[in-house]
Amino acid sequence: MLKHVSFFFTVILVAPFLLNAQNSETEKLVAAMLGHTQIQDDLHELCDKIGGRVTGTEANTKAIEWGVRKFKEAGVDVKKEAFQMPSLWDEKSCTAKITGTSNFSPRVVSRAFSVGTNASGLEAELVSVGYGTEDDFKKAGDKVKDKFVLVTTDELTELGGLFKEYNDAHEIEGRAMAAQVKGVIYMSSRPKKLLFRHLASRGYNNTLPLVVMARDDASRCIRILDKGGKLNINLNIELTTGGSYTSYNVIGEIKGSEKPDEIVLIGAHLDSWGMGTGANDNGCNVSLVIDIARQMTLLGIKPKRTIRFALWNGEEQCICGSYAYTQQHDKELDKHVVIASIDIGSGKITGFFTGHRPELDAETKKALESVASLGPFQNADVPIVGTDNYDFMMQGVPNLVGIQEGANYCSDYHSESDTYDKVNLQNLKINSAIAASAMLHFANLDKVTLKRQSRNEVQKMIDETKLDLPMKAFEYWQGWLDGTRGRKL
Ligand SMILES: [Zn+2]
Repeated sequence: MLKHVSFFFTVILVAPFLLNAQNSETEKLVAAMLGHTQIQDDLHELCDKIGGRVTGTEANTKAIEWGVRKFKEAGVDVKKEAFQMPSLWDEKSCTAKITGTSNFSPRVVSRAFSVGTNASGLEAELVSVGYGTEDDFKKAGDKVKDKFVLVTTDELTELGGLFKEYNDAHEIEGRAMAAQVKGVIYMSSRPKKLLFRHLASRGYNNTLPLVVMARDDASRCIRILDKGGKLNINLNIELTTGGSYTSYNVIGEIKGSEKPDEIVLIGAHLDSWGMGTGANDNGCNVSLVIDIARQMTLLGIKPKRTIRFALWNGEEQCICGSYAYTQQHDKELDKHVVIASIDIGSGKITGFFTGHRPELDAETKKALESVASLGPFQNADVPIVGTDNYDFMMQGVPNLVGIQEGANYCSDYHSESDTYDKVNLQNLKINSAIAASAMLHFANLDKVTLKRQSRNEVQKMIDETKLDLPMKAFEYWQGWLDGTRGRKL
């Protein structure tokens, strides 16, 4: 109830903006987005009722059908677009027992695509390797062979730390494989007993048991080991695994009135890791995308260009849904004027990442003028790797990712605590208005100056921004080199 009350104040605060506004379509749309809509009811249904929705699970299938129904109820044309996921992975259970100098059962959870164990578990000595740097592994030498290594982490407090966590894991897992360890145990980067699930850095190609241990429990192990104690760990990881399977993106569409073959697209990923209920990552922005489609339809808005609303699937495993879209809609990509991904929770949108494309930065600034009172806005003209803009970027399509204030995004990210109550509903409403007006701006442009880049131009962008580093950390580099993931010419 409190959320409703505080939302009421939001409407009052933005009222002067509405009063001064001219009665244009954009302003009507912004007013509708900021007014009472179903956005939080949708979020409640998706997160509280359907819950965490790992691609390939029953909950994910429910979420697909839910998404289709939501667009239909909003009067928006919608279809499911099938694609193949490489292989199935879901955790059934993950437990551990520590024995030796002390005996206790730490809280653990597997990283996605961890190798499972047999029913009696996998047991070996536990060896602390500090932060798992090159020096740490050098110092440890042969001592870690066939042992479980315990890696210390810093507590995650801001987005920069998250990118570092991904990069570090890629290097640590490389060193661990070279040292022939039995498995890697990361101290949780979240406080106290909180657990979270990240992808194994090698994704589908991972060959190690990989788990995260509660920070308090991992600290206890390290204190014992530092004082000369000896510990063994028995890890028991039970998984549901399988081969390739079909999943679906949900694609809504409002046809353009003048240039229906030219497309402006906004998307958010429908899937989540299953520990929390995927609220800030990314149920809130699924609700945002649906609500934009709904309000545009309710207002009878007929954009000049077609606007597509994408609920991507398989994002967490491999960004597979949006990749599949770029393959299936290959012939249309020249006509994609701009695409946007919203995937950094419910912190307020403060601008867009514009992908190292000054012309897109300039046009996005203009797009944000009509919602200047919801700013201030500052774009960052840099490319982003790690969400659904990726394959569009590699195909040379102008692409945006919302820049959002961090707020509580990091502590809950991929963790058990990513639930409805963590979503900032006021910001979500404001963000929906910002994104809606920006998309309408691009859809109604008189003249489009944004161009699809050639492979050479994409390569130039990669070189100028050192994008090969995150591409390598996310294991996308080879796909770009061999032309399976990215523009061929
Ligand atoms: Zn996400």
